[in-house]
Amino acid sequence: MSARIFDGVAVANEIRAEVAPEVEAFRARVGRPPGLGVVLVGQNPASEMYVRGKLKAAGEAGLRADLERLPPTATLRELLEAVERLNHSEAHDGILVQSPLPAAMGPDAERRVFDTIRPEKDVDGFHPLNVGRLVQNRARLVACTPSGVIELLERSNIPIAGRRAVVVGRSDLVGKPMALLLLHRHATVTICHSRTPQLAAVTAEADILVAAIGRPAFVTPEFVKPGATVIDVGITSLTDRVSVERLFAPGSKRRETFDRRGSLTIGDVHPSVEEVAGALSPVPGGVGPLTIAMLMKNTVTAAQDRAG
Ligand code: NAP
Repeated sequence: MSARIFDGVAVANEIRAEVAPEVEAFRARVGRPPGLGVVLVGQNPASEMYVRGKLKAAGEAGLRADLERLPPTATLRELLEAVERLNHSEAHDGILVQSPLPAAMGPDAERRVFDTIRPEKDVDGFHPLNVGRLVQNRARLVACTPSGVIELLERSNIPIAGRRAVVVGRSDLVGKPMALLLLHRHATVTICHSRTPQLAAVTAEADILVAAIGRPAFVTPEFVKPGATVIDVGITSLTDRVSVERLFAPGSKRRETFDRRGSLTIGDVHPSVEEVAGALSPVPGGVGPLTIAMLMKNTVTAAQDRAG
């Protein structure tokens, strides 16, 4: 058996196409486009790439998108001041501060940032008020990656209600909101993490398995119930040839990509899971594009709510 492979790009394009007329209607009604303010601290290459993708998508969607760059030496205070400027800006409906922040800003820097962004502009859905609303199943702004996973499942006609869902990873950004969204859609949800004993035995009970760990190819076929839907959220850039050769056969497209680029983006799910799963969200081309599409959607939602 070979899994049905979800096309995250196609589903993301569907969502973006739905957002476009809403942007136009907002512009016609309010006299300006919905606005997104992005703050990027430092020059982390992965962050640069993510931010480029978000700004490009925003431009294509007809949103106003402004990038404020801060040097790697910026202090947390300077970052919070930048956030406050966006909080007070009439033109910006959404604020996104790209993670990760420089370690020198301290261990609670991200939390301080999430706490500072006005909840009505919190298009990442990380402010405690929005997280609380999510717990109560009445959120307007929900974290983009997990809500993108739900869109992918629903638009691919994967039933959630009554199914057994297992989420591996319990971060505030992905694992926890993911579990809550599945719970609100009436799945029976288990959350696993690094201290879960006999992890493979737990995940092998899942009808829907979401891996959000950040460990390349960690989820092997023994973790997966035959026929299950597997969503790979993890993103790792592999740069060592030995690992790539261990995972992908000679002559495969993935090896060619590695030879060409010197790096390969892979997820938490081992390639051989394709032979066991019923459906699989790949990396790249699965959840990543949906995260960006949901950011566009959240920005329009924030703009509409602010405009009344
Ligand atoms: P994170 O904050 O590092 O959390 C990782 C989670 O995985 C933690 O809860 C950790 O458990 C758990 N974990 C680590 N090793 C484990 C193991 N051996 N067994 C079981 N659980 C284990 O990461 P994150 O922000 O949630 O992101 C997770 C992955 O998703 C990363 O690869 C990230 O790059 C990717 N991501 C992708 C997108 C996208 O758009 N596709 C968006 C966001 C994130 P403990 O809590 O016990 O430490």
